[in-house]
Amino acid sequence: MKKNGLIMVLFLTSILMFSQKIERIEPPFWWAEMHNPKLQLMIYGKDIASFQPSISNKSIEITGIIKTENPNYLFIDLNFEKSTAGTFDILLKKGKKELKYTYELKQREPNSAKRKGFDSSDVVYLLMPDRFANGNPANDSHPKLTEKLNRAYLGGRHGGDIQGIINNLDYINSLGATAVWSTPLLEDNDDKYSYHTYAQSDVYKIDPRYGTNDDYKRLADEMHQRGMKLIMDYVTNHWGLKHWMMNDLPTYTWIHQFPGYANSNYRMTTQYDPNASKIDAKYCMDGWFVSTMPDLNQSNPLMLNYLTQNAIWWIEFAGLNGLRVDTYSYNDKEAIAKWTKSIMEEYPNFNIVGEVWMYDQAQISYWQKDSKIGAIQSYNSNLPSVMDFTLHNAIMTVFNEENPNWNDGMIKVYENFVNDFLYPDINNIMVFAENHDTPRIHHLYNGDVKKYQLAMTLLTTIRGIPQIYYGSEIGMTGDKNLGDGDIRRDFPGGWEGDAINAFTQEGRTAKQNELFNFTGKLFNWRKEKSVIHYGKTTHYIPENNVYVYFRYNESEKVMIVLNNSQKEQTISLDRFKESIQPHTKGFELFSEQQIDLSKGTLVIPAKSPMIIELK
Ligand code: CA
Repeated sequence: MKKNGLIMVLFLTSILMFSQKIERIEPPFWWAEMHNPKLQLMIYGKDIASFQPSISNKSIEITGIIKTENPNYLFIDLNFEKSTAGTFDILLKKGKKELKYTYELKQREPNSAKRKGFDSSDVVYLLMPDRFANGNPANDSHPKLTEKLNRAYLGGRHGGDIQGIINNLDYINSLGATAVWSTPLLEDNDDKYSYHTYAQSDVYKIDPRYGTNDDYKRLADEMHQRGMKLIMDYVTNHWGLKHWMMNDLPTYTWIHQFPGYANSNYRMTTQYDPNASKIDAKYCMDGWFVSTMPDLNQSNPLMLNYLTQNAIWWIEFAGLNGLRVDTYSYNDKEAIAKWTKSIMEEYPNFNIVGEVWMYDQAQISYWQKDSKIGAIQSYNSNLPSVMDFTLHNAIMTVFNEENPNWNDGMIKVYENFVNDFLYPDINNIMVFAENHDTPRIHHLYNGDVKKYQLAMTLLTTIRGIPQIYYGSEIGMTGDKNLGDGDIRRDFPGGWEGDAINAFTQEGRTAKQNELFNFTGKLFNWRKEKSVIHYGKTTHYIPENNVYVYFRYNESEKVMIVLNNSQKEQTISLDRFKESIQPHTKGFELFSEQQIDLSKGTLVIPAKSPMIIELK
């Protein structure tokens, strides 16, 4: 027994010695001629820090070697200023032992640096890939990933994937949406609820249950062929507990650690509240979002570099047109400003929208690039786009407020735009009625088509970038009080054998077609309307729950009338003279009727929108 044991130990030791290898290099490849010629490679392998790195190509300079207290990581700083596309060898030497990794510097796609981000000329379609369409039933479960298909459970994996999105791009395109924001697709190996995919376990890999990295690139290519844009949902604030690095952290300060466990208090106001206590601010930013999501420490420069390079890697690899950044205001605010700046310097025409979920416009505008509110505290996030959560908050209730008090009904919407002076870039604000974290509007409006039409007309004609949540265009509903699964149900027709296929006109019910046709008409009309994309706004104090506003530029003018009351209204046009003149006629989009504006009054049916292009 003793002898066998000794042999076993020798055997295992020799395996360890000879199995010494580079387990990972991240980023796994890079590109020549990037704006920023520097790259920090992370090399992972048993005792890798005891090796001395060198590069086979003399034009590539190692400018720094960084080691942490964990000998299994080695960070090397490279400068590619004098390099062209091609491969080179990274050599790691320790005595007689030598490890080699052939690294590739790829050629960039033409115009990669000039890529155009999504903007106010777009309509964004937000979808959850697990719940949209199952284009490949063979990938529904994966042997190496814990959570398996369970479509019967609202919190389980339902099998939707990238192929399902590709299969239905023509549907999204026909609706008139021009960009897709898919919730995250990177690997998430959580035991449960992995379908939301915000607890990622490998950020260089598409979750195999959605497809492959190449499938993701194919999705972007298919979209670009249709003139559409792809937005990646990026998570800088946290990873999943099952992330491979969590078993062997590069350094203690890679994540925020506490004695025991600390949850975030979610009070983002502590980021700028001059009266906040230090402990409250610390627990907001450093506490974990939930116990399965370790909070990343972006103030550690190695960690921040890792996140910056990872985001740029995906933009360059897949050909992305934008990022939506999850929980933006939970990050270390100085570090996330650097992260954002690095990406925008690499791609000056790109766009990044941050989730800044607060119901106060001064606080939302604080997070937009060059904010004067942020400047009060010498802060500039560099974030081009924010989300209009105050408008969302108003939309959730106003169309149910038919006999409003002084402060209810359309006045809430009007007052939202009163504060537009707070935003440095008023066109670069995402406007939405709902998203994957909120109640669905068809639930809030009890399926009332008229209320939906008013909400969508508002979103489509006001300043900003409209975002629609998948399925609203065909009446999908969901109650947040029943859990997140209820607001994230499967799109009908996305699965073989579905009773209804709402992806096709023939498959849709009469009501689904009514909703789809209305939405499609609105979105397709908006596509070519630069007056809506970039025009100015004049609005009028709502009277009798009727909100009237004009969008205009030097060559075009559009009058929008939203009658939120339950009565037909006759409005006097005299009050709008300053906006209407010198026009006397208009064309109304929905009725396709000429409107005579010289008559002095306009009749608008109960609970209805009008879009009048002035002639
Ligand atoms: Ca599938």
